[in-house]
Amino acid sequence: MSNTPEKAKACGLELKSLAKTYETHPALHETTLSIPAGRFTTVLGPSGCGKSTTLMLIAGIEKPTSGSVLLDGEDITLEPIENRRIGIVFQDYALFPNLTAAQNILYGLKAQKASSAECAQRLEEMLELTNLKGLENSYPSELSGGQQQRVAIARALAPRPRVLLLDEPLSALDAWSRASIGAQLKAIQQASGVTTIMVTHDRHEALSLADFVVVMNAGRVEQAAAPVDIYDAPASEFVATFVGGMNTVRLSAINAGAPTGIRYSDVRLSRATEAALSKPYCFVGQVEDLEFMGDAVRVKILLNDFKTKITADALRANTDAEVFRKLSLIAVELPASAWRTWSRQ
Ligand code: ADP
Repeated sequence: MSNTPEKAKACGLELKSLAKTYETHPALHETTLSIPAGRFTTVLGPSGCGKSTTLMLIAGIEKPTSGSVLLDGEDITLEPIENRRIGIVFQDYALFPNLTAAQNILYGLKAQKASSAECAQRLEEMLELTNLKGLENSYPSELSGGQQQRVAIARALAPRPRVLLLDEPLSALDAWSRASIGAQLKAIQQASGVTTIMVTHDRHEALSLADFVVVMNAGRVEQAAAPVDIYDAPASEFVATFVGGMNTVRLSAINAGAPTGIRYSDVRLSRATEAALSKPYCFVGQVEDLEFMGDAVRVKILLNDFKTKITADALRANTDAEVFRKLSLIAVELPASAWRTWSRQ
């Protein structure tokens, strides 16, 4: 039995009309979703939208109110947690403080009464995979947050789970460790080929690590797609706004007033010359705020209808200086080629 990518690709996770209500509160409305096998999926959404509930239903920690969970074509809805072969890593790692890294990693295998030869071999593989060689005899208190998290991942992977579930695994780490552990996590996932589902409320993390992103809002899946499609073709205004970088305008001059998305980087800002303002879909606006971002500046503008707020990311290298002056009146072009509408309003 091995977790080669080929083996893992044979598995897939499907939620069929899955729903969960806590007393009278619907945490997950009826949801049907396929999670690709052998890939890294992130579940993204604001706090309280049902991400953890979904993970707990897959793990078997919570029982659904209705619907089913299929793993590798097999209905596991009523399967007890210990029979599901699902590895879980929580935010706080939950390592055993009185056990060494090696003992933590082997905990699940020992519980399955694996032979000492198998334990030794698997420990080597896990130390290699998670880059923990040399730290096997350290106790959790002697390890950094990032190292502890890798022990937790190795412990979850050691018994060869069919699915690895990660609940906000990076949120207890500082920004620097987050980025580096995130990249290592992706590398570990690719090397192991285990179907992996990670919950996060961090849009950058969700898009940069995943092969497949599930965006949730208020107990429902808003969109499930590859990161590039989530970014380029958000299915709803919520996805566009939550994933970031998109204005929603409601102007009679644009799309007859229908809500229209325009990415920050697609807004064109220039001096308010007659030539600029005679272009189609060009408005006068006042610069309200500026946020330095390196090569670009995020410019917050109020249009001269005194209602519509526009955010634009302007490159410093090829933008008129007036644009970067607070309170200056500038030309704001919202080109028709950049308008986006959503499949769901
Ligand atoms: P997220 O992980 O996206 O922050 P959760 O899945 O934890 O969201 O929660 C979804 C909703 O269900 C929230 O409104 C939360 O308060 C509620 N909820 C979660 N767990 C329970 C529980 N054990 N009992 C009652 N309500 C719960």
